[in-house]
Amino acid sequence: MDCPSCQNPDTRVVDSREAVDSIRRRRECQACSHRFTTFERVEFRLPDVVKRDGRKQHFNRDKLLSGLRLACRKRPVSEEQLDAACARVERELAKRQGDVATREVGDLALVELRKLDDVAYLRFASVYHEITTPADFLEVLRPLLEREPTP
Ligand SMILES: [Zn+2]
Repeated sequence: MDCPSCQNPDTRVVDSREAVDSIRRRRECQACSHRFTTFERVEFRLPDVVKRDGRKQHFNRDKLLSGLRLACRKRPVSEEQLDAACARVERELAKRQGDVATREVGDLALVELRKLDDVAYLRFASVYHEITTPADFLEVLRPLLEREPTP
């Protein structure tokens, strides 16, 4: 990436931010210190999602985002973090060949929530895994408990 100011080809990335479908990079020219921003657009080819009853739908980002948002209600998780989590789920889905099951989308969302907030993770998991018994809850809690370091 050449510097737009002096055309020097030696530029350094000083900051990088992932948005939903693009990566924004702040670059600095190593010759004249000029700073500029580049955007890389990410092309997604998202698979169809197959529901439990066998019906197929296009992947719906808004639906995923509102599910995550609901789970994170009143939790210290920002809209940017939710957006980035959605983007990572989408990127993961874009790697899949063929259709994916709703379960897989939910599992990916859970991986993201586990990184963000334990309570949000539990909320999402309890709705999503249709938890009805304390034993079910233990299953969902297990990854959180196992993560704690033993003294
Ligand atoms: Zn320059």
